Amino acid sequence: MNTHLQSAVTLDGSEGEGGGQVLRTSLALSMLTGRPLHINHIRARRAKPGLMRQHLVCVQAAAEISAAEVDGAELGSQTLAFRPGPVRAGDYRFAISSAGSCTLVLQTVLPPLLMAGAPSRIELSGGTHNPMAPPFHFLERAWLPLLRRMGGEVSLELKRHGFYPAGGGVVCASVQGGSRLQPLELTTRGPLREAYAESLVAGMPRGVGQRELQVLQQALGWSAGQLRLPGMRQNEGPGNVLMATLVHEHTTEVFTQFGERGLPAEQVGARLLAELRDYQASTAAVGPHLCDQLALLMALAGGGRYTASEMTEHSRTNCRVIQQFLPVRFDIEARDGVWWVTVQEGAGSAA
Ligand code: ATP
Repeated sequence: MNTHLQSAVTLDGSEGEGGGQVLRTSLALSMLTGRPLHINHIRARRAKPGLMRQHLVCVQAAAEISAAEVDGAELGSQTLAFRPGPVRAGDYRFAISSAGSCTLVLQTVLPPLLMAGAPSRIELSGGTHNPMAPPFHFLERAWLPLLRRMGGEVSLELKRHGFYPAGGGVVCASVQGGSRLQPLELTTRGPLREAYAESLVAGMPRGVGQRELQVLQQALGWSAGQLRLPGMRQNEGPGNVLMATLVHEHTTEVFTQFGERGLPAEQVGARLLAELRDYQASTAAVGPHLCDQLALLMALAGGGRYTASEMTEHSRTNCRVIQQFLPVRFDIEARDGVWWVTVQEGAGSAA
């Protein structure tokens, strides 16, 4: 992109939701626009404010792909100055500490590499299924098809699962480069084509997964073919993730709950059921996570519209950060029981 004025953007990281998303979105946009970035009060609203290890890896990865000059890239730092150079396509490897999420680092570097002039390959090692981050299967099934529909040529491969807190997973992304994203109109999900649930159980008894799936079977009446307990390499554990995938004509959603020590399998199943029912009770195209993750893609396309079942402070904050960098405006309104998000070119202040 690099066409916008090169003036610096200064953000107060404590505004709105005040979490790590402000950092990731603003790093991606700083690289895409070439505008230097200053953030103060990073993650000020969190119990442990400042850059945690996974945020630091996002800064380091961003600096590597854009040869940026950086001040404040230290653990615990609450201020960051980031001055990017041109984004360089290439072959990159980023290792995130055991507990960090590969997918959040990908969220930072993928948008600029999408627009870079040549193909890139990124290998990330760390967590692939972490709480509070997009699980790999969500990115692959829910987010990636929408990116592709908008013109982003990316493929993702899960080489090895990495569960919180042990990590040890590997994800590879191949990015074509040179993409020009097209606006997307995504206001209905369309009829349901397929629904299934799977429990990933590694390094612990498979009975845990069976009990989780039983909760869904009893509540939803799903058939045996819709309830999956895939074989896993046991040395990829310990870890347990329960996912439900709803494939609609226009969107696919993936809902995820994580097994925790001391949390009965039945409760993991009940939590997933509640999430699924919230989405099923709505007619919106996307759920709360796709809602915040679509915002940047739509803004880069210069327009678009979608409906969401829930509007989180996370989404609103993300839209406000995007408006600081790009000449776009997000209009968010609740109508007919769903949230409508309209993105259009023009100075923004609505989100
Ligand atoms: P914090 O500063 O709060 O510690 P963080 O950097 O760990 O922040 P968030 O700012 O909370 O992370 O952002 C998490 C991202 O992961 C958001 O884009 C959110 O939509 C996504 N996410 C979280 N859980 C899921 C899930 N179950 N499925 C898909 N995406 C998810």
